Amino acid sequence: MIYKMLGKTGLKVSIIGFGASPLGAEFGQIVPEEGKRAVEYAIDHGINYFDVSPYYGRTLAEKRLGEFLKGKRDKIILATKVGRYGISLPDGFDFSAKRIIKSVEESLQRLKTDYIDVFQIHDIEFGKRKQIIEESLPAMFKLKRQGKIRFVGITGYPLTLLKEIVETQKIDTVLSYCRYNLLDTTMDDILTPVVKKKSIGLINASPLHMRILTEKGAPDWHPAPEKVLKGAKEAIQFCQERKVNISDLALQFAFSHKYVDVTLVGMSKVRHVKANLSNLGVKPDPDLLKKVREIIKPVANIFWKEGLPENNDPGATKKRTQGVQPNKKKK
Ligand code: NAD
Repeated sequence: MIYKMLGKTGLKVSIIGFGASPLGAEFGQIVPEEGKRAVEYAIDHGINYFDVSPYYGRTLAEKRLGEFLKGKRDKIILATKVGRYGISLPDGFDFSAKRIIKSVEESLQRLKTDYIDVFQIHDIEFGKRKQIIEESLPAMFKLKRQGKIRFVGITGYPLTLLKEIVETQKIDTVLSYCRYNLLDTTMDDILTPVVKKKSIGLINASPLHMRILTEKGAPDWHPAPEKVLKGAKEAIQFCQERKVNISDLALQFAFSHKYVDVTLVGMSKVRHVKANLSNLGVKPDPDLLKKVREIIKPVANIFWKEGLPENNDPGATKKRTQGVQPNKKKK
C-alpha cells in the first residue's frame, strides 16, 4: 500500500480510499455480506480511509458500515458528513448549527464509535455561503474543540465555491468529486493550486466518474449530458479492442495525481477492491492514455449545474437527469 499525509492533519492515509456510497445501494441493491467482505478485504490489504455520509442510502450506508467495522474501528480513518440528507432542496438539506450538532450524535451511533476522524459539510453548493461560513463551520469547529470530531472538511461539485471556502476559511480537508478523472480535469485548473498553497488535505472522489468509466456504464440517474456518455462509450470500446478495462486506466490515471492525498473509489464487491488495488503504483500506458484522451477530448471537461444557482461554476451545463432517487427506484 502507498500512504500519504492528509494535508496537515498528521493522518497517514492510503492513497486509495473506500467510498461507501455503494453500501447504501446508491448504484443499485447489493448483497450486504458481499459488502462486508469487501470492507474486510480492503482493511486486510492496507486501505485505511473510509468515506460515508448519512445521505448514502438515507442512513443505510452508515448503518452497514458501522456493522462491518465492528472490532476494526481503530484500524481505520473514518470520514462522514453532515448537512445533506436527501436529493433536493428544501427538505434534503439542513446546514444549521442545531442540525449539525444532532447529526454528529446520530452518525456516531450508526457508526458505533465515539469520534469521527474527518467530518465534512456535504455538498456545500446547496447551502447559502453566508450560512456555511457564519453558522455551519463554527458549529463544526466547536465539535472539533469538544473532541467528537478530529478534523473539519467540506465537499462539493462546483470548484469555484470550494476554492473560495478553502481560501478564506480554516478547514483541514476538501473533497471534490467528478472533477479529476479521464473525463474532467478541471479540478487542477481551479482548486488544486489553492489547496497546494494552503497545504490542506485534498480528497478526489469518483475517479470512475460515477461509473461512466466502467464497462457496465453509467447508472440511469447519472447527471452528465448524453454526449459525455457517448464519448465515454467510444473510449470504452477502444480499450476493449486492446483488451484493456477502462476502469484500470482511469484508476491508474487518478492514483498518479501528485497532490491528491486520497482517491475515493465507490466499492461494495471484493472483486472491485482487488481490481482497484492492482492499479496502485502502476503508471498508465502513455500511448493508450494519449489515444483515449484524444477520443474523449470533444466531450472532456463538460460539467453540470449543481446546487443553488449562485453557486454554479461559470460554464456549467444542464443536467441530463434531475433528482432521480436511485435507491428508491429499485424497491
Ligand atoms: P466512482 O467513480 O468511484 O464509481 C463507483 C461505481 O463504480 C460503483 O458502482 C462501483 O461498484 C463501481 N466500481 C468500482 N470499482 C470498479 C471496477 N474495478 N470495475 C467496475 N466497476 C467498479 O463513484 P462514487 O462511488 O460516486 O465515488 C467514490 C466515493 O467518493 C463515494 O462512494 C463517496 O464515498 C465519495 N463521494 C463523495 C461525494 C461528496 O461528498 N459530495 C460525491 C461523490 C463521491
